[in-house]
Amino acid sequence: MNPQKPGLTRRALLLGATAGLGALAGRRCGAPDNHPGPSFPDPQAAARAGVLDDASQLSPTPVASHITIGEDPRAGAVERIRAALAEARAARRPFIASAARHSMGGQSLARDGTVATLDQRWLEADPARKIYRVAAGTRWSTVISRLDAVGFSPAVMQSNNDFGVASTYSVNAHGWPVTFSGGGTTVRSLTMVLADGSAVTCSRTENADLFRHAMGGYGLFGVITELELDMVPNALLAPRYEEMRGVDIGARFAQQLAADPAIQMAYGRMDVALDRFFDRALLITFRPTADQSKIPPASGSGLVSRASRYLFRSQLDSDRAKRFRWWTEASLGQRFAGTASRNSLMNEPVVTLDDHDSFRTDILHEYFVAPARFAEFVTACQAVIPGSYQQLLNITLRFVNTDHDSVLAYATEPRIAAVMLFSQEKTARGESDMARMTQALIERVLDIGGTYYLPYRPHASLAQLSRGYPRAAEFAARKRAADPDLLFRNQLWDGYFARL
Ligand SMILES: Cc1cc2nc3c(=O)[nH]c(=O)nc-3n(C[C@H](O)[C@H](O)[C@H](O)COP(=O)(O)OP(=O)(O)OC[C@H]3O[C@@H](n4cnc5c(N)ncnc54)[C@H](O)[C@@H]3O)c2cc1C
Repeated sequence: MNPQKPGLTRRALLLGATAGLGALAGRRCGAPDNHPGPSFPDPQAAARAGVLDDASQLSPTPVASHITIGEDPRAGAVERIRAALAEARAARRPFIASAARHSMGGQSLARDGTVATLDQRWLEADPARKIYRVAAGTRWSTVISRLDAVGFSPAVMQSNNDFGVASTYSVNAHGWPVTFSGGGTTVRSLTMVLADGSAVTCSRTENADLFRHAMGGYGLFGVITELELDMVPNALLAPRYEEMRGVDIGARFAQQLAADPAIQMAYGRMDVALDRFFDRALLITFRPTADQSKIPPASGSGLVSRASRYLFRSQLDSDRAKRFRWWTEASLGQRFAGTASRNSLMNEPVVTLDDHDSFRTDILHEYFVAPARFAEFVTACQAVIPGSYQQLLNITLRFVNTDHDSVLAYATEPRIAAVMLFSQEKTARGESDMARMTQALIERVLDIGGTYYLPYRPHASLAQLSRGYPRAAEFAARKRAADPDLLFRNQLWDGYFARL
């Protein structure tokens, strides 16, 4: 409890305290070796006019048309979307909606088709009903600042604030707020323009089948134009740290949440130093402070956190730096972390830890396993990751409750979500090693009853997708019925569902 430190968020403290000490860590500069082999993707193909990419920097895709929709849904957006759909239909080319394009495997890209970027700011909050209506392309940074002003907070969002609200529903993203499931489960209703140009309302009671397919449906059923979502009161939260063995954290995470309903947010971290890989874990839980009378305005971790980039990036190829970072999180973090509002904890842009390295790119993986099987997940990671050529710089754990709504559900039971950030070399050898390692990891996760997340690189085999998402064929059949001419397509469809 320390309302005097409102601007100093959790991340600022953890990372910022270490920034000045980063020089102690020892650092390999991350430069390529002399013979890295051919680049991937081909830099010339990627630089051609009319080529769009996503956050992976590995999905350059030629598109026929790229439009941006900035209008409010009540002031022209729907008409513009309808006109663009009619044009794509007439030209017999595919169409896909997108926002920040932070998915990593062409999920927001239609090859030789039309890509619509929705980038809006419209939001209306109804504090009495604890809901807000928002334009599909509104970014979470806007949602936080608007809800913060009226004392509320999004019920669920992912860890970064750059993404679009409809994207969160369309991948069914999740975050640290507990004990929620994916963000889609906090959406009450939405409006969507279908392949024939009609606009429909979807909810759990109206067009419910469409609602469940489009949640985590990657834009394959239509263009969402606005959504109505739950919001919760903002709160001032204080962190508590608990260190434990890596194999114990899954069960402990679930047990802590079950034992203490006061916990509003929670995440875990693991030690990624290769000589003691995943041996230790930290569980950080956030509870409201006793005094909620002064909640500071939403901030991010700001300058201090940005300065900490140095330490985060120094981990590349350096076990010494990884050990040092672990020490800062496990020791300094516990000692110095202060209070932060719920909104501030979620108000972080992706750019904070940007690698600024044209030779490498950050690639995320995410796996979902039952808390009771987490120790087996640790063993699987220890067997697969350190032997690869990939650089794991961070793993964050979350708790995701059962998803009773979406057809492509990744949490068919309560699960621990393990989000991993790898730094990958942008070469053919880096890409093929990543594909091999990803498939190996997915196989091990499937063997323990878990699954993997779909917005990242498309390295899983079709058989792995079908095992991890047993309703995949049903999803593809429903899509063909709703959109027989396959107007809405992306690389997730082309690479997987089209083959089912
Ligand atoms: C650094 C980073 C951190 C992340 N953290 C998390 C996390 O904490 N938790 C988590 O669950 N995920 C996380 N993700 C994954 C992220 O939530 C998804 O990649 C998300 O889709 C990104 O939002 P976006 O606006 O960039 O979506 P885009 O990549 O633009 O689109 C994603 C999908 O949504 C569809 N879509 C977008 N707008 C519409 C619309 N209006 N109508 C219909 N379909 C639409 C697109 O067609 C596409 O299939 C993270 C990704 C990155 C790169």
